[in-house]
Amino acid sequence: MPELPEVETIKNELLPYVVGHRVTGITLIWEGIVRQPSVEEFRSRLIGQCIIGLTRRGKYLIFSLTSGEALIIHLKMTGSLLIKPTPAEPDKFTRAIIHLDGETSLHFRDPRKLGVMWLIKDANSVVGKLGPEPLEADFTPQLLAQLLNKRTAPVKAVLCDQNFIAGVGNMYADESLFAARIHPLRSGKSLSPDEVERLHCAIQQVLWSAISNKGASVENYFRPDGQLGTAHFQFQVAHYLSGKFCPVCGTPLQRIPIRNRGSYFCPRCQPLED
Ligand SMILES: [Zn+2]
Repeated sequence: MPELPEVETIKNELLPYVVGHRVTGITLIWEGIVRQPSVEEFRSRLIGQCIIGLTRRGKYLIFSLTSGEALIIHLKMTGSLLIKPTPAEPDKFTRAIIHLDGETSLHFRDPRKLGVMWLIKDANSVVGKLGPEPLEADFTPQLLAQLLNKRTAPVKAVLCDQNFIAGVGNMYADESLFAARIHPLRSGKSLSPDEVERLHCAIQQVLWSAISNKGASVENYFRPDGQLGTAHFQFQVAHYLSGKFCPVCGTPLQRIPIRNRGSYFCPRCQPLED
């Protein structure tokens, strides 16, 4: 699934194509992609609006409109947003097309049909409960320590909880825990101040590195121009993409399910001890 670095890359690369442009039409090939309001209202309220800003919050993209409303998009597992010239034939996985002035359109491609769009007055009704942004200045080691303080759940599950930290998912949680040498099953509150500091540093380093590599092209992630990201080439453990052995000590990596997602780690570099 696209996580913070992928959504940040999409936001950065879409900006010049969408901001300052007017929505001239909508083609909904699969209407189920609109969560709110009704399909008719979605179409009538969006067409004619100018996009005046585009920001990211967690894994959500927020398009600000002249009416004061926001178009919010979540790509979920397999969604991507592709910029195409108008007219361009949609491929078989294109679920919606937002036509813009200036002869471009935004194709929402989503093989698994899990992606969602909202058109709403108050963006906070969708993104208001998200946890802090891990790359913002207010995300300090002290804040992370405070957030982990009472959490008895495995730290891996805590990191993937969007209401805890916004934007980190399965891949970057595994990479961050490996970089911090922390076992994914350790409870949040068991981490020492030193480990919290290492984890904080690892999260930021892993995310910035992935952004500079334009995201990881796994599970159908494409950049708006259709190109792939290269962040997965830097992965140490996530999805075994670097191989099945720890790149640091050579021990076979392990995969365990945590909250129904595979967690990858090195049992030697990330020992389970409280
Ligand atoms: Zn190792």
